[in-house]
Order: sequence, then structure tokens, then C-alpha cells
Amino acid sequence: MTKNKKVIVVGAGIGGLTTALYLHRAGYNVQIYESVKTIKELGVGINLLPHSVRILWDLGLQEALDQSAIRTKELVYYNKFGQLIWQEARGIDAGYHWPQYSLHRGRLQGILLNEVKQVIGEDCVHTGMHLSHVEQHNKKVQASFIDRSNEQQLEVVECDFLIGADGIHSAMRKQLYPQNDKPIYGGRILWRGMTKAKPFLSGRTMIMAGNIDEKFVAYPITAPDHSGYCDINWIAELSVTEAPDRNEWNRLANIADFAHTFQDWTFDWLDVPSLISGAEYVYEFPLVDKEPLPKWSFNRVTLLGDAAHPMYPIGSNGASQAILDAEALYVSLIENQSIEEALLDYEQQRIHKTASIVRSNRQHGPEIVMQMVHERAPQGFERLEDVITYAELEEISNRYKQIAGFHKEKLNQVGMKVSQ
Ligand SMILES: Cc1cc2nc3c(=O)[nH]c(=O)nc-3n(C[C@H](O)[C@H](O)[C@H](O)COP(=O)(O)OP(=O)(O)OC[C@H]3O[C@@H](n4cnc5c(N)ncnc54)[C@H](O)[C@@H]3O)c2cc1C
Repeated sequence: MTKNKKVIVVGAGIGGLTTALYLHRAGYNVQIYESVKTIKELGVGINLLPHSVRILWDLGLQEALDQSAIRTKELVYYNKFGQLIWQEARGIDAGYHWPQYSLHRGRLQGILLNEVKQVIGEDCVHTGMHLSHVEQHNKKVQASFIDRSNEQQLEVVECDFLIGADGIHSAMRKQLYPQNDKPIYGGRILWRGMTKAKPFLSGRTMIMAGNIDEKFVAYPITAPDHSGYCDINWIAELSVTEAPDRNEWNRLANIADFAHTFQDWTFDWLDVPSLISGAEYVYEFPLVDKEPLPKWSFNRVTLLGDAAHPMYPIGSNGASQAILDAEALYVSLIENQSIEEALLDYEQQRIHKTASIVRSNRQHGPEIVMQMVHERAPQGFERLEDVITYAELEEISNRYKQIAGFHKEKLNQVGMKVSQ
């Protein structure tokens, strides 16, 4: 395939920036167009699973990630009374060749952006350019950009192919699928915050407690500072029948809307009420996804990341799957003769796998075990083995890893054993 063709990546999020690095490696002239005028390090915590860490290390980001992230040691599920249900090692502690990282989502975006500017060049990122629509003629793509703040037309840019990595509200997806593109509300609201607090349990533990109607998740995303405090990311999640008329990551929320549900959740391993009350900001985010699509690639245009497969943030998979898409696209472009064939091949590599995760997350992914224990023992239990067997717990955990593509033995066989 002729190299030095021009590709536009729409969206400088985690998926778009990782894709840009790979397409540059493949020899393309990569230009990134981002809607916001200034890329700020927004969001709260995010997790990267070993399969996506393998890819980021391959891009040379191990040191930057180790400086900004926690290498997650274990994942532990409890019921709402703080009784232990399941505990499993994660990342390198579980025998993977790569760690699981927990870190600030904006920091991750910052690391990728910095790498893009260093490797590809400062001027490849065009901010304040919101994609409005795309046309394809004679093996060329014309992308029109507007200023989102006033809807003013800015530029029409021509390229050889275009990747729509413009997130859950993707304009590219909306143009390809004008009908039924609305996010589907999953009946729950997530309140997300970050609190400076002393580390809990191992200091590198991710916990989840409760059931599908009332759940609390917490994990550290920084190492302790000189006074022993770290940033702990947390999510309080409640069932709320009425669908809120919004789905943004940056909508500030009021603690009073949800804190009362968790007022008695004081365990000897974590004080949930003080974690909630100690947060400087809390963001509200309704649980939404979209129906899996039958097709992502249309001649010289394709979708990637949340634009292609928005999913519930269950199983810590959203960012990782966008990163996996980026690598798959790179491999398809190298292995196929034409861009059209490569984009179709990429779609085939990824569309069914990600649809399975979207569907599995609708059934609560691996967290279903918390609900099973709740239904079988709503007032708690004396002995866990009277409620659920170890074999059941293990089977559910392993099945999800298989679906999400991070089954340990298979992943380690990928062979790229990198230094730890
Ligand atoms: C501001 C923000 C905060 C987030 N915070 C969290 C969090 O705290 N925890 C978590 O788990 N997940 C968070 N997410 C979602 C998470 O980043 C994604 O689920 C995941 O990383 C997949 O990445 P993506 O690149 O596909 O999408 P995103 O990371 O959402 O990136 C999409 C990018 O496209 C840009 N864009 C959108 N429309 C257009 C357009 N028409 N033209 C040009 N550019 C466009 C957006 O501004 C954004 O930079 C957040 C997303 C955003 C945008």
C-alpha cells in the first residue's frame, strides 16, 4: 500500500491519540482534528487492562505511565455489609506480563498528547475543529469542520482516509447512522469523585461493594504523597428509573443526591461516607451505551473507540478497547493492499468482539457475582460457601476475561515479553 497518504483522525481522546501514534508508525501523514479549543486533563479515574498496557508499552509509554499511575494489585468484591465475596490478583501480580494501571483519565490523555506532539510534531493537532460532516469522492475524503461554539463553518480538509474517534457523541457515527443514534439509558446513575485520603487495604486495591441497585467502587490513582495521602477515585452508583436528559462527563453534581444511601457503609477496611464527603468535586454520569452497529467502515471512513462501541463502564474496559482498536487498525493497514480492504479487515477484527463486551456489560459483566450473592443472601451471610461456590465465582471471572480479550495465558502468548 502506498505510504505517505494523509489520514485525518477525528478526536484527540484516548483512542484517537493512540491511533495517531500507530498510523504515524505505519508511515502515514497523520492530522488530528479535535473539537475543543484547549485540551484539558479532564475526567476522573480510569483503568488500563494488561492487553492495552502491552500496546502502550509498545509505543514507548511505560516510563510515563509508571510515573503517573498505580500498578493495580488486586480487585476485591464485597456485599453492601462489607463481607468479602471475591478477591483476585490483577496485572503483574496475577502473572500477566503487563500491569493493570489505574490513573487519572486526563493524565493518560496528556501522556498520549505529549507523545503525539513529540513523535509526530506539534502542528499535527488542530484544536477548535468540530467535525460536522464528511463526503467521499474519487478515493478522497472531504471533512468539514465548524467552530462548535457558534456553528460557524471553518474549513474543508481533504485526506485519503478518515478515522472517526470522536467519542460517544460521535458526529461521524451520526452521519453514518442518522436514525436511532441516541444513547440508551441503563437505569442507573454514576456519581464520580476523587478524594485525598490514606491508602486502604494493600494501597493498590480496587474494591467494589454492593449490588446492581446500590454499588460503590474505589481505587487509588496516585501513590501516597509525602504526608501519606493519595488520590482515591470513587464511583457511587444507584438505580434511578427516570432517565436524566443528559450524558456528559463534566456535569457537576450534588453529594446530597446520593450520599444518604451510603451513610452506613463504614467498614474496617474503608470509610465510604468520609470518602464521599471529602471530594472536592463530584460529577454525575448516567449509565449509557448504544446498540452495537452492523458496520463501521464505509469505503475510506471508519469508526473507532467510543464512537464505534460505547459501552457501560463495567469491567474497566472502555479505554482499553479503544487502544485495542488502534493496534488492530495498524495491523490491518499493514497487511492489506488497499485502504478500503484494510478498513473492512479492521472492522471484522474488532466489531464482533466489542459487541460481545457491550452485551456482556449490559448483564453486569463480572460484577454479576455481587448481584447473585445479594439475591441469595440479602441480609448478608455467615459463610460465603453456603451462598456461592468458589467454582462459580472463578468461572464468571474467567469467562469475562475471555470475552474482553485479556485471558492471561492467551495474552501472555502474544510473546512481547517486556521488562517489568
Ligand atoms: C471529557 C471526558 C472525560 C471523561 N472522563 C472519563 C472518566 O473519568 N472515566 C472514564 O472511565 N471515562 C471517561 N471518559 C470516557 C473515556 O475517555 C472513553 O470511554 C475511552 O477512553 C474511549 O476513548 P475515545 O477516544 O473513544 O473517546 P473519548 O476519550 O471520549 O474522546 C473523544 C474525543 O473526541 C472529541 N470530539 C467529540 N466530537 C468531536 C467532533 N465532532 N469533532 C472533533 N472532535 C470531537 C472529544 O472532545 C474527545 O476529545 C471521558 C471522556 C471525555 C471526553
